[in-house]
Amino acid sequence: MEVIRTPAAMAAWSGTARVGGRSLALVPTMGCLHAGHLSLMAMARQRAHLVAASIFVNPAQFGPDEDLASYPRIFEADCRAAEEAGVDVIFAPAAAAIYPPGFQTMVRVNKLSQGLCGASRPGHFDGVATVVTKLFNIVQPQLAIFGEKDFQQLAVVRAMVRDLNFAVEIIGHPIVREVDGLAMSSRNRYLSPDERQAALCLWRALELARRQAAEGEKDCGRIVAHLSAAIAVEPKAQVEYLKIVNDSDLRELEQLTDSAVLMMAVRVGRTRLIDNGYLCPKIEN
Ligand code: AMP
Repeated sequence: MEVIRTPAAMAAWSGTARVGGRSLALVPTMGCLHAGHLSLMAMARQRAHLVAASIFVNPAQFGPDEDLASYPRIFEADCRAAEEAGVDVIFAPAAAAIYPPGFQTMVRVNKLSQGLCGASRPGHFDGVATVVTKLFNIVQPQLAIFGEKDFQQLAVVRAMVRDLNFAVEIIGHPIVREVDGLAMSSRNRYLSPDERQAALCLWRALELARRQAAEGEKDCGRIVAHLSAAIAVEPKAQVEYLKIVNDSDLRELEQLTDSAVLMMAVRVGRTRLIDNGYLCPKIEN
């Protein structure tokens, strides 16, 4: 497995590696890899001849009061894990290589970036859309894999690819969870043992919502009220938002439909956790 640090070297690698029409899949990450990331890489391995993973803690998607400086960085361990998952090349540029002096262009996906996480993290999805654009242009993948864990991010990236005619197929990967249901996240390592227990309130809320949906409850307001009350019982947890939205445009729903997704952001202690899930079982064809 190669480790590449500069955009020019990465673009050159892609150009050479893809000779003969070999396909390249990209898995963008911020590192501190866990089984969720590795599952995306395994999926990439199955779908393409070559797999690139980027490890880049993107300053443009962090707000001034967020955890950019303290975001966990374990590069050597990440490289070992990525290699085992079958990654061919890691692209790990320095921030100055992605945002050199004079950098001034941003990509914005207007509507989808506004609500939910966008409401409390202004500019976050502009940072995401911009870095994903740059990664696509540098790495030149035919497909890219993103986790449904970041459901709004996936919607933003899909819209951007459609609106700007990127020749990249976007594939969503289901959320990978710990055995007790907590969605895997690099930020879980911020949690104290007590907070780790408290963090299960997100998964319990999702299960409760699914139970209510299965029992025939259709009123989203009532479901949300139940979930808010259930999470309020946990003193370490503070709901930032809890909404039931349509999976395509992320607009809030009044009545449950097959495309209803519960979206949650909850602070547990000082750690902000997100989770989501469809509320009605999807009919597989
Ligand atoms: P991050 O390093 O947090 O930026 O995540 C990199 C990619 O991995 C994103 O597409 C995330 O949605 C995805 N991801 C992170 N955690 C999970 C998880 N628990 N299950 C599935 N995908 C995940």
